[in-house]
Amino acid sequence: MSETLKGACLCGQVEYEVRDPEALGYCHCTRCQRWTGSNLAGVVVARENFTFTSGEELVHTYESEFAPRNFCSNCGSSIYDDLGDKFFVAAGLMRELDLEPSFHLQVAYKPSWEVIGGDAPQFAENPPA
Ligand SMILES: [Zn+2]
Ligand SMILES: [Zn+2]
Repeated sequence: MSETLKGACLCGQVEYEVRDPEALGYCHCTRCQRWTGSNLAGVVVARENFTFTSGEELVHTYESEFAPRNFCSNCGSSIYDDLGDKFFVAAGLMRELDLEPSFHLQVAYKPSWEVIGGDAPQFAENPPA
């Protein structure tokens, strides 16, 4: 898939582009719940395919135990979770995104009030390698 998506945070000062998005899925872990308020719907993107086009100086990083969390320091929008070779980019910031969800991770940790719909495979933790 060769495609470029644009994303912008809530205040609009941070903008970025993502090339060749690989997959859309959800992480239901407790870290994502605390970071976003619920689950994190994210797009898997190779690190080199993510580029800030404005406001990069506003992006702050929270160094969490596993993956550093990058967010807009002005409005608080979650931007991406840094997984090393890949970024997990918050899906709600990219208005033209039209991928179908293809996975749910860390489902064992979702809150009781969250109901997962759709047909995407659900993994208790991470998918088998
Ligand atoms: Zn912002
Ligand atoms: Zn998570």
